[in-house]
Amino acid sequence: MGVPVKHLLAAAIVIVVGVMPVSAKTGSVIVTAQMRNNAVRNVERYEWAKQRRDAVVSRVQRWMEMSDEELWRMLPSQEMPRDSSVNFRSPGCPNCGMDHYKAPYNPSRWHWDFDEHPWQALCRNCNQWFPSNDFAAYYQSALDEQGKFRLGAGDPQYLKPIEGANPEWIDDGTGVKIGDGKWFFAAHYAFQVWHALIDAAEDLATAYTLTNDARYAHKAAVILDRMADLYPEMDYSPHYRLGMEASTGGSGKGRVQGCIWETFTAQKLSSAYDFVYDAMAEDAELVAFSQGMAGQYGTGDKSSAAAIAEHIEQHMLREFVIGLKDGRLAGNAGMDQHAMALAAIALDHPSET
Ligand SMILES: [Zn+2]
Repeated sequence: MGVPVKHLLAAAIVIVVGVMPVSAKTGSVIVTAQMRNNAVRNVERYEWAKQRRDAVVSRVQRWMEMSDEELWRMLPSQEMPRDSSVNFRSPGCPNCGMDHYKAPYNPSRWHWDFDEHPWQALCRNCNQWFPSNDFAAYYQSALDEQGKFRLGAGDPQYLKPIEGANPEWIDDGTGVKIGDGKWFFAAHYAFQVWHALIDAAEDLATAYTLTNDARYAHKAAVILDRMADLYPEMDYSPHYRLGMEASTGGSGKGRVQGCIWETFTAQKLSSAYDFVYDAMAEDAELVAFSQGMAGQYGTGDKSSAAAIAEHIEQHMLREFVIGLKDGRLAGNAGMDQHAMALAAIALDHPSET
């Protein structure tokens, strides 16, 4: 007597599920479709709700004006170092020295400009842009076939000062080194890109919850999908060993950022994924874009909205859980629990969470 086919099928499903968890999510749960409808109605009725909607929509305008591909290409991969403060362990500025501390500290004594000065940082006291080489060109020349930056692999012609510039202020990604001092200009820029796009994903997703407008969810999903391409490799410790910091609390551990702030990464991106899930599940334009990029850069199966959801869950949300267990996400009191709870709610997998 043969085993009934349906039993074999069930056994096969158990084996597949055992090897790789399959997405069990069926809809947005933190802000449901009904809650989105309520929010839209509140915006029509109440001034406070309209102000909240307008503030978020205005913050995301700059991201809405970028193409999907421009957003995708903005995010640097693991080997591009990341530093939150330029000069955490070195005094002042290579140009104006200790006068640097006369610059206003809000939000930082260093300034960056994604549009006009890619891959640079400005001292807000002496108004000097650093580094003195064309790091944007160096960065482009160091990208591999997957669009990932390979440290040390760039074209050395871009490690010379641009004409008339100071030959000491050269950065190859590991910082400008003068004597015992190190200034992490390119790494600071890379940190700011990640920081800005994590906030962008959260804001775009929030804009969707307050408008029901799937265009916001689409842009958030483009960012989340690309982040999930890169996130499994993300590890802060090699950057810490170069002398960098980004809220590791001195432990050297972390992923995109140090282990303390990385709990915010997990909180924001887990919520963003859940917020946009309903729109993402029906986003044919996202599938077309993501599949096109996957064809060029080998970023895995992006052949359906379900495949992209599975990718984000497997390569980002479950990576947050791994990081919370191995100490690469380790915040102050309550931050870990908040991050774990949001990752679990976003995964919404009955047997796992
Ligand atoms: Zn300066």
